Amino acid sequence: MAKKQFKAESKRLLDLMINSIYTNKEIFLREIISNASDAIDKLCYLSLTDDQVGLNRDDFRIDIIVDKDARTVTVRDNGIGMTAQEAENNLGVIAKSGSLSFKDETGRDKLEGEDLSIIGQFGVGFYSAFMVADEVTVLTRKYGEEKGAKWVSKGADGYTVSEYEKDSVGTDVIMHIKEDTEDEIYGSYLEVWKLKALVKKYSDYVRWPIKMDVEHQERYLTGEKYDDGSPKYEYKSVTENETVNSMVPIWQRSKNDVTDEECIEYYKEKNRGRKDPCALIRINAEGTVSYKAMLFIPGEENERAFVGDNKGGITLYSNGVMIMEKCDKLVHDYFEFVKGIVDSPDLSLNISREILQHDRQLKVIGQNLEKKIKGELEKMMKDDREKYAEFFKNFGIHLKCGVCDEYGRYKDFLRDLLIFYTSEDRQVTLKEYVENMPESQKVIYYATSDSVKHAMSLPQCTEVKKRGFELLYLTSAIDEMVLECLGEQDGKMFCNVITDDLGFDTDEDKKAAEERDIENREFLDFVKEAVGEDVSKVKFSNKLGDMPCALTSEGGMTLEMEKYFRRGPSEEMRKLRANRVLELNAEHNAVKVLLDAYDNDKDKAEKLSKVMFTLASMMAGLEIEDPAQFVSLVGEMF
Ligand code: ADP
Repeated sequence: MAKKQFKAESKRLLDLMINSIYTNKEIFLREIISNASDAIDKLCYLSLTDDQVGLNRDDFRIDIIVDKDARTVTVRDNGIGMTAQEAENNLGVIAKSGSLSFKDETGRDKLEGEDLSIIGQFGVGFYSAFMVADEVTVLTRKYGEEKGAKWVSKGADGYTVSEYEKDSVGTDVIMHIKEDTEDEIYGSYLEVWKLKALVKKYSDYVRWPIKMDVEHQERYLTGEKYDDGSPKYEYKSVTENETVNSMVPIWQRSKNDVTDEECIEYYKEKNRGRKDPCALIRINAEGTVSYKAMLFIPGEENERAFVGDNKGGITLYSNGVMIMEKCDKLVHDYFEFVKGIVDSPDLSLNISREILQHDRQLKVIGQNLEKKIKGELEKMMKDDREKYAEFFKNFGIHLKCGVCDEYGRYKDFLRDLLIFYTSEDRQVTLKEYVENMPESQKVIYYATSDSVKHAMSLPQCTEVKKRGFELLYLTSAIDEMVLECLGEQDGKMFCNVITDDLGFDTDEDKKAAEERDIENREFLDFVKEAVGEDVSKVKFSNKLGDMPCALTSEGGMTLEMEKYFRRGPSEEMRKLRANRVLELNAEHNAVKVLLDAYDNDKDKAEKLSKVMFTLASMMAGLEIEDPAQFVSLVGEMF
């Protein structure tokens, strides 16, 4: 029989698939089963109007048959089948699938490394069989035809088609599994447990039963008894033809049929999680784009959910066939902690990560999901603040990063989902903070620190609280950046109590302070000189309350930012320093002692200046570079 060549385009893709280090070979089964399911759909549809079909809905099935000796896996369906001509037409060309268009767009001839994995993400159809098989035989007979056809191919070098006597309508795809290599144990695809697991993973919700012979150990009574009278058992292996897929997915069933508790159980089972999710969102959308979704907001951080890691927790299905795990393009990164499933009949199997970004349907779905997620979070915040605070503790960081992302593009969408701890021992949104502001308060006060406890003790905060104003305590490294991105809230600007003017001083106060600085210029310069290049300025301050001194900063970078950068990944980043300002409380006794020493004992004044600076650094939560030196310095004071 003359061998026929594949069409050029198919040959290229085939080569690419077979010869590449293919990361996701196992999807071949999903592809072959999907074809079988489609073929059954077609015949089932015909049977509605054509009595001759002679099959009831319950008669349709897909069988997976393993023959280890022959090294074959057969996927059999009793669907519509193909004529010889159809087999040739359909199996001789690879549908213009995503991988080829991807190649064309990039203009590259060969996909390499990382790019190769892209192929694995979308439907590659019938040809994926060649990733695991060195020969594929298709025996098929079309409904309404007398004769069947046999199509055989060993891969890229072509195929043959011949007539074939087939008893029943439908198609057998017989895959002769490759020999094992050093890198790949192809033989595992001949194991029933493996195939069963693949059906569960990718085709669990195909709506036709997928049947396999599965071997079980069964215990039976031998009729004999042990000396003590207890019955003797023996085991034998029994092979049963089982349906290995669940067919109807839980999210496809209506809210009346499945309770929220059942959905949560499902989540915990998939998730191997202990904790209940903190929210469940069920959507049944019909309209321009139809889809069903079952989403969960996890109850704890870093849960292993439907996917291996935290990124992209939504799995995409099309009509019960899983098309993509970890679909991280569906919702923005700020909602990447959301887990669950989206199933839409409007999506095709031929979907790659590249295409996904431009897919209009998916964009619409993604936008809708985001609105629902936000709505659910707002509801939780309103109804159960404690629960929301727990959620925010776990995942607030994603929302905060979202605010800073892409130059604040999403800030207004996310703004009202942020909560901050305040000096009134509550967690509020910025909107709530502003609503609570007395008329005399003009700005939103905040203090940055490593901990709420430390923030509370800052003298600058005491000044604000004394006036009855509430303060935000920002304890996460990104918080300052978040406020910077937000810019304002309801027309109120933010005021960093450590570095900014608190706005409490009258013009007279300011003038007096300026005069005091001028009068004491020499003294302040002396202190600066004594401390050395660690400070860029020394000044008096009125906002230090009971504290003798404090360390603040001037310019764009604050001490909190510096601490953040010190943990940064590059040496360059770790070296970044804020411009430190040493502030002295002129009313404090310790400063009076320093002033006195300046007038009478310069040597002592120099030492006191250094001590003052170290104390201020400690207050600011900075590490002391040389503690031993500090201790000996203090020792000399006595
Ligand atoms: P796709 O399914 O994306 O069209 P495939 O390469 O998987 O691409 O299959 C090509 C075509 O071959 C199918 O569209 C279908 O017409 C036909 N086909 C494949 N498998 C079967 C089957 N089991 N029964 C009937 N037709 C099939």
